[in-house]
Amino acid sequence: MTTTLITGANKGLGFETARRLVAAGHTVYLGSRDAERGLRAAERLGARAIQLDVTDDASVRAAAKAVEADGGLDVLINNAGVQEEMRDDGVVVIGAAELTADVMRRTFETNVFGMVRVLHAFLPLLGRSAAPVVVNVSSGLGSLSLVAAPETPTYAYPGVAYPASKAAVNMVTVQYAKAFPKMRINAVEPGFTATDLNAHTGFQSVEQGAEIIVRMAQVGADGPTGGSFDAKGTLPW
Ligand code: NAP
Repeated sequence: MTTTLITGANKGLGFETARRLVAAGHTVYLGSRDAERGLRAAERLGARAIQLDVTDDASVRAAAKAVEADGGLDVLINNAGVQEEMRDDGVVVIGAAELTADVMRRTFETNVFGMVRVLHAFLPLLGRSAAPVVVNVSSGLGSLSLVAAPETPTYAYPGVAYPASKAAVNMVTVQYAKAFPKMRINAVEPGFTATDLNAHTGFQSVEQGAEIIVRMAQVGADGPTGGSFDAKGTLPW
């Protein structure tokens, strides 16, 4: 039996990933910073709700303790994320001219420091799994090669904080993958998906977006590690 934790899984891509992995037979811990929302979402799926705010040390520590006491963890999906530079109608309103250190800090607090906080707390549990897997939900906007290439759709994106945070997620992925060669640790780009994150302006459904997250969560011990993937294959850093 595979046990999987997904952060920020009360809605959006995380929720859809939880649904798919429950269907695939995983025991799924559905992480949610709001306990009530988590409980409601978990009940709909037959998952286990776990309160987990990635910006809160005590919350993450308590979640790791609870999962450990229940038997441990095989798969960690770092999915929780924010994109503060995007307004409620999907327009990016904080570009280079408007960016403040506070916006940058808040974005990194969830997308980067939150991810590291969760990794630090759960790595000892993953280390005891026979086939440990980590999926870091990144973005094509975190690819320096794509954002700098005028022929790609990502080139036109004016925000700074979110792409920078996802570039950091990519580096975290590469360095952890080298440090823990027995684990499969990869970054994934779900593609532009209609969720609350972008006021549902994304082109894809959550079913399409979750595809690569679900696939990399199920990668075997002989699968890739330290890479960046979308549904079509490998992405450039
Ligand atoms: P979403 O529907 O807004 O879901 C984001 C999830 O993260 C929510 O459950 C949210 O919880 C949670 N979250 C935010 N801050 C948190 C914190 N401090 N602790 C724990 N959970 C927290 O967005 P989504 O599109 O599914 O995003 C999921 C991931 O995919 C993100 O990492 C995002 O950057 C990435 N991504 C999305 C797209 C896209 O087009 N949608 C493209 C590329 C990458 P609340 O409900 O409590 O706010």
